[in-house]
Amino acid sequence: MGKMILEYLEGNRIYVCKKCHIHLSNYESRISKNFRGGSGQAFLLDRGINYHLGQLEDKDLMTGKHTIQNLSCNGCNQVIGWKYVKAYRESEKYKEGKIIIERNFLKRIKWN
Ligand SMILES: [Zn+2]
Repeated sequence: MGKMILEYLEGNRIYVCKKCHIHLSNYESRISKNFRGGSGQAFLLDRGINYHLGQLEDKDLMTGKHTIQNLSCNGCNQVIGWKYVKAYRESEKYKEGKIIIERNFLKRIKWN
């Protein structure tokens, strides 16, 4: 892995990695909290930072076929969610380019 560049987010409610506490996303970036991942509730987010992506994979989800990439925390390397690269159903296209992070791997903090 290359040199780690840490970014910080604006806003007063920040989602950080539960394990290593680096900033991952914020409340303003949250589009929906009604998603599910392997560990339960998951958030659909418009934007995140301090993560890296795995190989492209095709997955058959409840909402049809999607191309995704696993998403891992830059601080601790834990896989914490995925990115939607391509959705094959028209109704799911809004998810393209967005990321999912599972609630279980996040902690919400106040930040000024
Ligand atoms: Zn982490």
